[in-house]
Amino acid sequence: MTAEGTLRADIVEVGRRMYARGYTASNDGNISARLGSDRLLMTPKGVCKGFMTPDMLCITDLEGKKVQGDRDPSSEMLMHLEVYRQRPDVAAVVHAHPPTATGFAVAGIPLDRAVLAEVLTTLGSIPIAAYATPSTSELPEAVRQFVKAHDGMLLANHGALTIGADVYAAYYKMETIEHFAKISLVARLLGRENLISREEVGRLQGLRDTYGIKAPAPICAENEPAQDPAACQVVQAPSSPHVRLVPSADHDGEIRLTYRQLTELIEDAVRTLR
Ligand SMILES: [Zn+2]
Repeated sequence: MTAEGTLRADIVEVGRRMYARGYTASNDGNISARLGSDRLLMTPKGVCKGFMTPDMLCITDLEGKKVQGDRDPSSEMLMHLEVYRQRPDVAAVVHAHPPTATGFAVAGIPLDRAVLAEVLTTLGSIPIAAYATPSTSELPEAVRQFVKAHDGMLLANHGALTIGADVYAAYYKMETIEHFAKISLVARLLGRENLISREEVGRLQGLRDTYGIKAPAPICAENEPAQDPAACQVVQAPSSPHVRLVPSADHDGEIRLTYRQLTELIEDAVRTLR
């Protein structure tokens, strides 16, 4: 198979996996990849990414002008073009709406707590790009702020975006984000979240070199004065030089009641007032 044929097959396969895993519904989501130095291969608008065939993909130039294909390129093409402009090292872009990660994006909660060693060594933190109307030039603007220092981000009230050195690398980061979001949600539902200490985060960051992970930016130093989202990755990690895991202060003093307990308390209070 030619290089282009392989790339088309990879995009089709990743689209199938995204749909099978429920990261997209209906015609949602889009995938693109660099095809040589001045061309992009892109999923078309208006098709389910779970049922694409290689011939459905479009070829555009780096300005988004279609140069080949029967269908029109993705409605989120502007966001993809912006990523390629900002990140010459990136060869593929994946966008989807994985439900748990998108839930965090809707709640306005970034996935930036130091919780999982694997996530800290690979993605670092997953910020939220500001809400922007899909398909407009607002979305590339919102993404631009974070894309220089992050390989994955949430899009407020929309979904998630991941990028990588090839189609699978970008897709696997989408899997990592959704997996991380599910684990974070379960820990928070259980009412307790132990955080990895800042000192341990430093050790984990050191592993990036050992594993040959090419992170786009370092993790921000604690209380770094200007935490520029284009310069470093903001990670919430408490300093605690002597332990590696620190209980999150979030739930201190929290009182959890069932609906029945709450009703009884209110009824008691009403009786007292009578
Ligand atoms: Zn979308």
